[in-house]
Amino acid sequence: AKKQGKNRHFWFERSMENELRFRNELETGIRRGVQQGEFVPYYEQQIDLDTGELVGFEMLARWNSPQLGLVKPDIFIPVAEDMGIICTLSEQLIDIALEDAKQWDPSITLSVNISPVQLRDQWFAQKLLKQLVKHNFPPQRLEIEITESCLHENIALVRTMITSLRNQGVQISLDDFGTGYASLSQLKTLPFDRLKIDRSFVGSLSAESPEAGSQLINAIVSLGDGLRLPITAEGIEDAHILELLREMGPLKGQGYHYGQPETSAQVQQRLTALNRL
Ligand code: C2E
Ligand code: CA
Ligand code: CA
Ligand code: CA
Repeated sequence: AKKQGKNRHFWFERSMENELRFRNELETGIRRGVQQGEFVPYYEQQIDLDTGELVGFEMLARWNSPQLGLVKPDIFIPVAEDMGIICTLSEQLIDIALEDAKQWDPSITLSVNISPVQLRDQWFAQKLLKQLVKHNFPPQRLEIEITESCLHENIALVRTMITSLRNQGVQISLDDFGTGYASLSQLKTLPFDRLKIDRSFVGSLSAESPEAGSQLINAIVSLGDGLRLPITAEGIEDAHILELLREMGPLKGQGYHYGQPETSAQVQQRLTALNRL
């Protein structure tokens, strides 16, 4: 038994060591990836559920790592946030995305995710507006998605930045709504343009008892109505969920039912087929 315990201790230390090594390699890789331009935007369609029309794309970051292959943001965004490199990374991706989106029909919007770390920078709004000017991109076509976790940081600063972005026409969405800390009073006092219902709620519509899920979504939809905030439902995975959502009122939606996130080239093909490039 003693021998076994020693062994376990050994393996424990080994796995800690491995984890640290992996983390170190990840950080080095991310730093180099930013320098080498290995991060690329993918795009997910956003649909007007009433008309079925394509109305926008959400940009989702991917890392084309020479060692790891195509890496999802859940792996590198938290690390990039810790490293503080998220601001540079995001700026880089937005530069590319704005150029991509300029090729699209001007009726099509671009949504980008903004990390709470970026919102701690008091110059964030100015920098983003400067970027729009640099690319000659109409602010009205840009939407930024922030999560509820931004709201328990420096609310006063966040409000100031949101307000100056909105004054220029940028749309502000509250992402992953329902999973975080937003209080109803914050919803009223912060100037959002839209709520995005988290895909965990939307996914519950396909569960064995979809009634509970649909009551919850109905509640969010009527909250949105009351606050005059339009709603996007994310994570629509099948036609059944889509049908249920369409009955709940005019919504925007996105999800794998419409397709996986695509590269800029794939988006161009899609838009060419739709005659909207
Ligand atoms: P999110 O903003 O909630 O983005 C939606 C995520 O759900 C995306 O995962 C998307 O691929 C996935 N998804 C979309 N439709 C479906 C569906 O029907 N079913 C399921 N199961 N999943 C679906 P992804 O691309 O891995 O992004 C994960 C998260 O990473 C995003 O969640 C966002 O919070 C963050 N993220 C992505 N790009 C950026 C970025 O450029 N900057 C920052 N700060 N965060 C980013
Ligand atoms: Ca999002
Ligand atoms: Ca989301
Ligand atoms: Ca999410």
